[in-house]
Amino acid sequence: MLAIAGASVAAVTFSPDGVVVTLRRRRGKHRCPCGWKTWALYDRHMRRWRHLDLGATRCFLEAEICRIDCRRCGRVRTEEVPWARTGARHTRDFQDVVCWLAQRVDKTTITKLLRISWEAVAKIVTDVVTDTIDDRRLDELFRIGVDEVAYRKGHRYVTVVADHDRQGAVVWAGEGKDHRVLETFYDELGEERTGRLIAVSLDMGGAYKLATDTKAPQAAQCVDPFHLVKLANDALEATRREVWNAFRNAGHPRAPWWKHTRWALLKDQSELTETQLAVLHELRRRSSILYRAWQLKEGVRDLYRLRWPSQARQHLDWWLCWAQRCRIPAFVKLAKTAKANRERILAAIDLGLSNSKLEGLASKVRLINHRGYGHHSAAAVIAMIYLCCGGITVELPTERVPSVPG
Ligand SMILES: [Zn+2]
Repeated sequence: MLAIAGASVAAVTFSPDGVVVTLRRRRGKHRCPCGWKTWALYDRHMRRWRHLDLGATRCFLEAEICRIDCRRCGRVRTEEVPWARTGARHTRDFQDVVCWLAQRVDKTTITKLLRISWEAVAKIVTDVVTDTIDDRRLDELFRIGVDEVAYRKGHRYVTVVADHDRQGAVVWAGEGKDHRVLETFYDELGEERTGRLIAVSLDMGGAYKLATDTKAPQAAQCVDPFHLVKLANDALEATRREVWNAFRNAGHPRAPWWKHTRWALLKDQSELTETQLAVLHELRRRSSILYRAWQLKEGVRDLYRLRWPSQARQHLDWWLCWAQRCRIPAFVKLAKTAKANRERILAAIDLGLSNSKLEGLASKVRLINHRGYGHHSAAAVIAMIYLCCGGITVELPTERVPSVPG
């Protein structure tokens, strides 16, 4: 019933903790986690692993486990058993169920359903990620995207590197958001693999640029479209708030109307409702500063909607000219930033690098936080990012074990 490979059941006892199944190992060499095998053992002791519940009763597997003097590792290590990962106190099946759930539900649900602590969930996720993450993921990197994501209510940051050629799967994550974090990534990648990078997409800040300039000077740098569009949205929002505040402070009776222009201004043009369109028409009729700000924002978005990417240079220069003279402070500032990054903005269009997948990453991390996984350490958050955005597939034990005939 338990379908444990490499062992048979020697005894079943009922203890106050639950059912304890004692296993007898099949005879064979002892295997070090590194793969080295030996008949000789250093010492032995009994160990217990928590297994999946039998109905409402907790179930534990118990077996003798040996330590061996591994000649390849050069030290005494605990041997590997088929039903559990190295060093784990839960069986492989139990850990896989935890991770399958962690990809889908909040942490409290798991602790209640499986009767384990928050810390145990975090440790299992970290252990499984370390065990299942594919080391070859760094071998075939050509076009990558780098971004910072916030966790713990935006007070802490992790730097995330994603592979554009594998649907934006996260290949690396590290704590912090300064140039040293990204340099650590390039160092881990090594000179040869870093030298093969063709393009790196990043934000408009200086930190990632500095790291890339020093470690991967041959790679073309480009600015993610979504960063520029986000800045344009922020500029529009800042302008709107200023206008609204001016009306409110003057005690204008229509101040609330200005407050509610927000969605009409920020929403995608093609998705506007009739009421929202009416708001825009009203703004145009009044030749409001907000209407011009909205046009400027759409002008940025048009850059990425051009039918012929070859027109991008012309469009961007036209927009820069317009924005620099628009006398709306937030957009004058944006024009300055965009001008400083002109080549990198155009490179993104030339290379066709769209970071829609990376853009989704920030909201995925927000969700991870929201589900209660982001409260402890950066290591725990990073493990969850790998688990949920790193292309790791966790198989449920029920999907793996062939069903019993009959
Ligand atoms: Zn070894």
